[in-house]
Amino acid sequence: MSVARVIVDVPSRETDRPFDYLIPARLEGWVEPGSRVAVPFGGRTLQGIVVATKDDAEVDRSRLKELADVLDAVPPLSAELVELGEWMSRRWLCPLTVALQAMLPAALKGKTEKYIAIARGAEWTEADRLFDGELIAALERQSPLKLSTLLRQFPDQAGAIQRLLKAGKLEELQKVEDRLSVRTVLTVFAPSPERLRAALEAIPRRAAKQRETIEYLLAHPEPIAQQQLAEAVGTTTGTIKALADKGFVELRAVTEDRDPYEGREFPASAPMKLTPAQAAAFGPIAAAVGEGRHEVFLLHGVTGSGKTEIYLQAIQRCLEQGKEAIVLVPEISLTPQMVERFKSRFGERVAVLHSRLSNGERYDEWRKIRDGRAQVAVGARSAIFAPFGRIGLIVIDEEHESSYKQEESPKYHARDVAVERARQHGAAVVLGSATPSLETYAAATIESGAPGNRDAAFRPVYVPLPERVADRPLPGVTIVDMREELKLGNRAMFSRALADALQARLDREEQAVLLLNRRGYSTFVMCRSCGYTAQCPHCDIALTYHRGSQNLRCHYCGYAEREPTECPSCQSPHIRFFGTGTQKVEEALALAFPGIRVIRMDVDTTTEKGSHEKWLTQFRERRADVLLGTQMVAKGLDFPHVTLVGVLAADSALKLPDFRAPERTFQLLTQVAGRAGRHELPGEVVIQTYEPEHPSVAMVERHDYAGFTAQELRHRRVLGYPPFGRLISLTLSHEQMPLLIALGESFAAKMREKASAAGLTGSFAGGAPHALEVLGPVPSPIPRLKDRYRFQCMVKYRGDVDAPGWVAKTLQELAETTKRSGVTVGVDVDPQMML
Ligand code: ADP
Ligand code: ZN
Ligand code: ZN
Repeated sequence: MSVARVIVDVPSRETDRPFDYLIPARLEGWVEPGSRVAVPFGGRTLQGIVVATKDDAEVDRSRLKELADVLDAVPPLSAELVELGEWMSRRWLCPLTVALQAMLPAALKGKTEKYIAIARGAEWTEADRLFDGELIAALERQSPLKLSTLLRQFPDQAGAIQRLLKAGKLEELQKVEDRLSVRTVLTVFAPSPERLRAALEAIPRRAAKQRETIEYLLAHPEPIAQQQLAEAVGTTTGTIKALADKGFVELRAVTEDRDPYEGREFPASAPMKLTPAQAAAFGPIAAAVGEGRHEVFLLHGVTGSGKTEIYLQAIQRCLEQGKEAIVLVPEISLTPQMVERFKSRFGERVAVLHSRLSNGERYDEWRKIRDGRAQVAVGARSAIFAPFGRIGLIVIDEEHESSYKQEESPKYHARDVAVERARQHGAAVVLGSATPSLETYAAATIESGAPGNRDAAFRPVYVPLPERVADRPLPGVTIVDMREELKLGNRAMFSRALADALQARLDREEQAVLLLNRRGYSTFVMCRSCGYTAQCPHCDIALTYHRGSQNLRCHYCGYAEREPTECPSCQSPHIRFFGTGTQKVEEALALAFPGIRVIRMDVDTTTEKGSHEKWLTQFRERRADVLLGTQMVAKGLDFPHVTLVGVLAADSALKLPDFRAPERTFQLLTQVAGRAGRHELPGEVVIQTYEPEHPSVAMVERHDYAGFTAQELRHRRVLGYPPFGRLISLTLSHEQMPLLIALGESFAAKMREKASAAGLTGSFAGGAPHALEVLGPVPSPIPRLKDRYRFQCMVKYRGDVDAPGWVAKTLQELAETTKRSGVTVGVDVDPQMML
């Protein structure tokens, strides 16, 4: 008998190590690294992942328990993915189980179900029969029964079940089950022609529909879905059920693969002849893919420069090598349009993974990959874990997108995972963007790499693509200073320039995209007399006004209160709703341009499954003049008749207390500007702002990525922010503030001790090549959430410093104190969001 080392699914730091289990004979041969198993653990049955197997010679067998079960015939993970999980757990300081769970499709994140069974040798007394007779009878019919089913059937008998469990007459069993729903289709199976003819004899004349159904089956004997058969015959499923009840046909539930793109035609697309600029960029990428060489490329191409065609041809090259490719796109731009480009080129070989699929649909797509029926996976962040075995290429489109960083544990960045996975497979990586993140750009272009950058080894090859395809010009950009508009007496939401441009589109029957970087009718409530703003009493952040329900809501905890009519602080009636939301803009558009057709896309209009697609299809079919929305209209869309892009408040996100705010604003404005004039018709962009001089706005006018970046990098260098330093943030939360401050201070002190012990004496600001500094503890930007105070410490370091290792060690040293005080500790390595 051999032994399996299992990571049990308990996401805590204390149990974050493999536990040994004996592999019983019946499971021998089914267990390998990556297998999902059920194991007894602390009196429960839990799910776990096997990370290794070994001979039992080294262990004391008598002390080991046995594996309870193996949960899949084919292991969902591989040895390579287990290794990747171990790397993630070191890289982002998360428990290994959390990293491994992140790789599984949601359907396989098993849950433990309790079952009740009659205990062996149980003998029922008269009293048992008298009081609990029905319960016992149910268990005699079927045992074990799911506890939840039993309680639904006998809602008053929870006490009785407890009592019989204690008396040892019932026993409780646990099983790990998938959260999986398989789709089944009721299918009609016809018997032999003889039996069908016999049925015809038996069915009376007046049951005409039943007879017609049998006749249909005589002509078409192959199995057919019940629904389809009913339609073919022109009857209801009731007729078929009647036939099945009489035993003339057989009705069986058949499981079916769900294809979310079922019934959709994807016209085939042949590779295009690359332009000379594309060919120059494609050359080195194709060479690396062809030679099976691990190399990372930064494909820096302006919007509309034909990056996607390069991805497609690189994938083609990869498939020709008999290898597989992963393409990551931001969730928000995973539109039907994007999917279509891949499906049209590679057809059935493409599997698509995004969050709008149901768990079951996602699972089916995932299985297509694992079973080798698909060779190209297109998806959002977590598609980086696609269970391929021979990866030749990983493409990350819009590599600067912050959605590639997961904001809950494991707080991984898909870009870094991609590079590591590609290294394991000897695969090429293409990072594509019109506005690369400053980190990636610096790593690719600064001679010696940026000091303090993520990894010294991260040195992408820089591949520029500076022109749009077919000499299409980049759109002209006009910046409008809204302060000037106000001076001239224009208090409207639209500047004259934007209003004129919109009117021209309506006259010419062209289309426009309007971006507003906010949601809701108006964002927060402020008193114009005393400056009072409505805050959540539990979270210390502003409440948001919701017009539909006329109340103020907290987006963090769900707290809601009624819309105020006077200021709670000074009783002034001048309490006004501030900020502009998409709903308000929609109303203003209707007033200013009577008859204008507007599609509004924001979180409120796109919650329903498929709504995204629906709006975009309507817009593409020109059933609207304006597409108005939040960030989701800025990315990846490509509509031939869009010739105007308007930005209503360019600076709305500039003031956020996050050092990346200018970078994000520049990226967003450049991206949205890129939606205009991508085809024959030339485009125009109007950006409204209160800060026209700000580089994030001004440089967009000139399409000057290099200029913006140079300035922003100088700034970051002075402050020691990435890419000139790295960060680890630690967030502590608890109901009591003093506990937080004490723990935060111990953490900072222990980190400083380690720094000086390692001889890091130079100060950070002094420009020492190796340095570490601990900031805080200070209140977090959101100082209280759900009645818990939040403090943070920020570790800032650069050079040859193992800060993640020190943080891990320090947390271990403080584990006792942390546990005793009940403080929650969250770690974010290379954080992307400072809020
Ligand atoms: P990007 O991904 O860089 O924004 P796209 O790949 O969407 O750019 O290309 C922009 C437009 O140019 C698309 O309509 C695309 O079909 C077209 N295009 C790309 N490459 C070529 C080519 N080699 N010849 C002709 N048209 C091309
Ligand atoms: Zn007031
Ligand atoms: Zn709240």
